[in-house]
Amino acid sequence: MPNTPNKVVIFLGPPGAGKGTQAERLAADQGLLKISTGDILRDHIRRGTPLGQQVQQIMADGGLVSDEILMSLIRDRLATSGSVRVIFDGFPRTAAQARELDLLLEELGAPINAVPLLEVPEEELVARIVERGKTSGRSDDSEAVAHERQRVYREQTQPLIDYYSARGQLRRVNGVGHLDEVYSRIAAAVG
Ligand code: AMP
Repeated sequence: MPNTPNKVVIFLGPPGAGKGTQAERLAADQGLLKISTGDILRDHIRRGTPLGQQVQQIMADGGLVSDEILMSLIRDRLATSGSVRVIFDGFPRTAAQARELDLLLEELGAPINAVPLLEVPEEELVARIVERGKTSGRSDDSEAVAHERQRVYREQTQPLIDYYSARGQLRRVNGVGHLDEVYSRIAAAVG
């Protein structure tokens, strides 16, 4: 069987924008592996692994886990033979992660296809996170931590918008509206 072509999508956007849900659907529709670093880390916490114990408090406080830990998780996930078909959700989150990901993708011969940016006003983001917190069981889905996560996003992750925009890879997507409507915009932007 011929190899399916490589496809790499990086899903950017602030916490609470709905990246996880939309990435899930895009992954299913396009046969991509969804790599959600938040989910991977939360799974470690649930299982009580040494890594989980190490990152638990950082995540509860809304801070970022170290670039070293993240890169090692990503290397593990991408250590596949065959084609690279992935959508990253919640990664990269710092300039260092973005640069290291570039190197890794270059080694794999899998260039980035598109970087959709899901845009939602900050007031709405915090409200969405607090609402999600009623059922998610996530210790970081409280109002105080939600504000901290937005601050960290602005400081550490927002610079990546320029990084990908300068290379013509960024696709701005309006993240306000019905789930299906937003999904159609994302699918059109990614191609
Ligand atoms: P998320 O589910 O993407 O909102 O991530 C939840 C938390 O996991 C974040 O607030 C960080 O503490 C941690 N985390 C997830 N992805 C990363 C990343 N790429 N770099 C650093 N920390 C991360």
